[in-house]
Amino acid sequence: MDLREILRRKRDGHALDAGQIRAAITGIARGEVPEHQTAALLMAIYLVGLEPTELEHWTRAMLHSGEVLDFSHLERPKVDKHSTGGIGDKVSIPLAPALSACGAAVPMISGRGLGHTGGTLDKLEAIPGLVTELDRERFCGMVAEFGCAFGAQTETLVPADRVLYALRDATGLVESIPLVASSILSKKLAEGIDALVLDVKFGSGAFFPDQARGRELAETMITLARGFGLDARVLQTSMDSPLGRTVGHALEIEESIACLHGAGPADLRELVTALGGELLAACGLAVDQSAGVERIGAALDDGSAAECFTRVVQAQGGDAGCVEDPGRLPRTGQVAPLVAQGEGFLAFRDCRSVGLALAALGGGRAHLGDSIDPAVGVVWCVETGAAVRAGETLAEVHHRDARGLPKALELLQRALLLEAEPRPSVPRVLTRLV
Ligand code: URA
Repeated sequence: MDLREILRRKRDGHALDAGQIRAAITGIARGEVPEHQTAALLMAIYLVGLEPTELEHWTRAMLHSGEVLDFSHLERPKVDKHSTGGIGDKVSIPLAPALSACGAAVPMISGRGLGHTGGTLDKLEAIPGLVTELDRERFCGMVAEFGCAFGAQTETLVPADRVLYALRDATGLVESIPLVASSILSKKLAEGIDALVLDVKFGSGAFFPDQARGRELAETMITLARGFGLDARVLQTSMDSPLGRTVGHALEIEESIACLHGAGPADLRELVTALGGELLAACGLAVDQSAGVERIGAALDDGSAAECFTRVVQAQGGDAGCVEDPGRLPRTGQVAPLVAQGEGFLAFRDCRSVGLALAALGGGRAHLGDSIDPAVGVVWCVETGAAVRAGETLAEVHHRDARGLPKALELLQRALLLEAEPRPSVPRVLTRLV
């Protein structure tokens, strides 16, 4: 298939019509378009953009490049959440079972970590035995039975995105608002959900560090989702410091389990309840967002969310005993301190470096398909804003045989600042767009 005519139109700044977009996306998904033409089309879109109608056609064509799940037979409202990714972002893990305990169904299809950010699937697979490559029947059966399942994207769900995302990654074309919006929404729409909450992060550890760009993405996604009849809401949240106290797969599972037991760090609970509250309000399971926040909090405190998580872990082949005894999660048993090199109040200058430190320890991947060590990571011993003395331990670095340890320690030192004055503490959630 030859895209040259379509390429010329886009290159010259003209909008493509529905037929041209459908033809291009179908050809790309079937592997009928040469990679150089697909990459040229992506570059033209990156530079010229897509008009709102074009973006809707593009997203629709991506959505219908594969199968769409159908949960219309379930009485529960179907909901999901997407985060643009950050450091220590484990929110999905307590959130999905908490939503299920509140009466929603959550067909959560997640991704793997790449570069400085971690992926929900990698974190879950730190639980011994747990499998996330579920076929359609098993995944849908779990959503029906437990109200929640954690699955990986399959070959047949939005196949166009597999081709486009890999090419964007290889050609430096990831950070385009229309391409990001269509990539995320086509996959969420394919889950057959009624409501979606988006956690759009800003700050030094975020995909779009700039708050204004994050807002543009958020507004584009809300308008686009509404065009498909999907109720989408957005919280813009800060990623200037790692979320919670832990970064690293098994360590983050332990922290997620604490949250599921009504404990754990306050900022993690704040995001889980805020995002969950939006969804419960959007799908009618709560009268408004603040009632939704309370319901999610109650599900964390009364054990119902933890109970749902235990059943889901078991059904996905994982060691459910970890939910009561996180000591069963993998550990390296080798810990080095990150020591304060001066005194002052702890702040972060470059949160992204914390993600890179995890990758240096063997807990991240440079390319999809690289293997990762689930047990390495960082546990912060001091809260952001706390006063520290020279020589005090700021964090425990879990390493394996010192692999990447000097580099990780250097990156962690580079990530932080010891300031003369404490920064005023700010909530994670900055704005709410509904
Ligand atoms: N996540 C996605 O799924 N797609 C993008 O384009 C960016 C982040």
